[in-house]
Order: sequence, then structure tokens, then C-alpha cells
Amino acid sequence: MRSWAEIDLAALERNLNLIRSALPQPMKYVSVVKADAYGHGILPTAARLMQSGVDLFAVANIKEAAEIREMASGWPILVLGPLLEDEDSALLEYDLIATLSSASELPRFAALARKRKQKIKIHLKIDSGMGRLGAWWEEAGELIAETLATQEIELCGLLTHFADPRDLAFTDLQRSRFQKIHDALPAAKRENLMVHADNSSSLLNLKKDSIFNSVRIGLLQFGVSPQKESLFSKLQVEPVLSFHSKLAIIKKLPAQTTLSYGRQYQLQKSSNIGIISAGYGDAIPLHCGNRADALIRGNRYPIVGRVTMDQTLVDLTDAPDNLEVGETVTLIGKQGDQEILLTKLAEDAGTIPWELLCSITKRVPRVYTTNRE
Ligand SMILES: *Cc1c(COP(=O)(O)O)cnc(C)c1O
Repeated sequence: MRSWAEIDLAALERNLNLIRSALPQPMKYVSVVKADAYGHGILPTAARLMQSGVDLFAVANIKEAAEIREMASGWPILVLGPLLEDEDSALLEYDLIATLSSASELPRFAALARKRKQKIKIHLKIDSGMGRLGAWWEEAGELIAETLATQEIELCGLLTHFADPRDLAFTDLQRSRFQKIHDALPAAKRENLMVHADNSSSLLNLKKDSIFNSVRIGLLQFGVSPQKESLFSKLQVEPVLSFHSKLAIIKKLPAQTTLSYGRQYQLQKSSNIGIISAGYGDAIPLHCGNRADALIRGNRYPIVGRVTMDQTLVDLTDAPDNLEVGETVTLIGKQGDQEILLTKLAEDAGTIPWELLCSITKRVPRVYTTNRE
């Protein structure tokens, strides 16, 4: 294979168990698998997560929800994003839970439910300071009252989303705004309600006995820590994904040669340059050129010159003479005692791990390992 992403489903399962055991109280686990399970491939990933026992899947839209539903009936699926009106009927067709975020959606859902003589399940979203989806917290009372008064709508959850979990003071403010709304619900309605806000970046700030009884985890279950902070170092999640390619050509180039488009890198001395058979058309971000490294035979070599769509250059001048074309090159993952973390590559490329995972293209086959212990 030319380039491939290896997906370790056993690591996914271990991460899930680790995250669960780090929660301050028994909580429902909402597994966020939008964007093709963060590039890991929705079907194998969701299948393993079902076996490992998540409580609910969350996706961005109807199309993603339908993919999971076609694999397994019965499993609860929450659509996090807003629906367009012509998508509403898919809620019933695929037995999905909608996120209700504004007053305009409620009459639409109610009319549909009445017509089909079925109930529509929703989680109601509060905007406690994210400034994106959800009913603005100061005005949410009305939408909640209308929701509770609508027979056809079954309120199953209440959620909010944090804007900047590293800012503990602002996150606490969001929690308290949200809590006010939660506490104002009739006690009978609060029972059996899923209450959730925390994602990968905030879950370790969760306190015991809080109103939150569920978490919504995406990135962290894939073994990528959103922050370097010490809080996360105690949670030893393992990367689920690694990315590899092959060394296609090794060539000697004279001093003063400039490499690749834009001629931004000039060789100071006669050098051995390796050409990796992958570029940003696969998964190597454009802006990691002259910053990131690649691993070959357990050694690190710098990526030089601008990354192109199909080829990436590495400086192999310091490599052993017997290095050969066809050797495996690791851009994300481990070789021997060397490791390139996805977060580090994202940082080198001036992006975030979420985006880097979403930019592993269709051209890259996902290879699954499923070992059980
Ligand atoms: C994507 C998403 C999450 C998961 O966030 P991670 O940082 O990947 O854990 C949680 N909630 C909502 C609303 C999201 O859109």
C-alpha cells in the first residue's frame, strides 16, 4: 500500500473504558462520531463502540445518523446539528433524536409528529455562552414551556456547549447559567432527563454530584488529548489512528538547490532527499513543510520544502547508507521509541487536531486492527 491509516479498535475500546473510569460518578456516555467518526471510519468504529457499550451516538446530521441506523436498529442516535425542514421526516424514518435549538423548529416537529401519529424525541439545547446553537439562556424559558406543553414532543435531554473549556471561570459561568434553567424545570420532568455539556476538553473538570449525568466525547476517545495540561496527562489514552506512507525515491541533489513549489527551502550542502509518496491529497498538511518530521526505521527526519498534493520531501542526508526505497514512513504514530503525536503535527501545521483528522482524505485506506486482549 502506498499510504494508509491504521485504526486500532482495541485502543478505542481501552480509551472508552479509561474515560469512563475517570468520570466522578456513573454517567451516560454519548459517543460523538460525526465527520466519519473523526476520520476513523464510521461503520467499524461505531460497531466497536456498540460492543464496548456506549449509551448514545451523536452525529452532526441526518446522513451520518442514517449510516449508523442502517447498521443497527434500536441504538439511540442524537443529531447535534439543526435539521433543514425537508429533513424532518427522517427523524421518524430512522428513529432519531433531534437537538431542538430554536422556536422555529418546535411547531415543525409537532406538526410532523401529529401527522404521523408518533412522538418526536428531542434534547433541548441551551446557548449558555457559546454563541452558536441553542436557545439563548436568558430567553430559554419560553421555548421550554412550549416544549413541555407540546404532547407530540418528548423531552429526553437538556444540553449546552462550552466555548472555551480552558477558561475555567467562563466555563463555570456557563455551567451556572445552564443550571438555573435545569433547576427551573418541574421535578417530574427532570427525572430520566439526560443532562450534558462536557466534551473532551472539559470532562476532567466535572465535579461529583453535579447536575450533569452524561458526557459527550469525541476527540478523546480516539486517543487524542485536546490540551497539554497536566489534567490530561493522568488519563493515558492511546492514539487510535496512525498514518504511514512509503519512501518512493531517494535522490542526491547539489548544494544551493531549492526544493518544491515556491522555492522556500534551499539546500546548504549536497543532500540526500527522500520523496514520500503522499501529500496534502492524503493527510500531510500543507503547512507542516519545514516544521514537522517523519519517522523511518525509528529515526526522525525533517520534512523539507513545501508539501505538495501527492509528494512530500524529507532530508535523509543523515540517514544510514543502506536506507532503501519502499521503506515505511510514519507521519503520525510510533516507530521504535520515537513517536509523532497527531497533536504535534497539527501544531506544526498551524491547525487543530480535529481539523487534521477531518483532512485525512478518501484516498487513504483505513486498515483496522481489532485485537482483543
Ligand atoms: C463535536 C462536538 C462534541 C465533541 O467534542 P470533542 O471536543 O471532540 O470531544 C461535543 N458536543 C458537540 C455539540 C459537538 O459538536
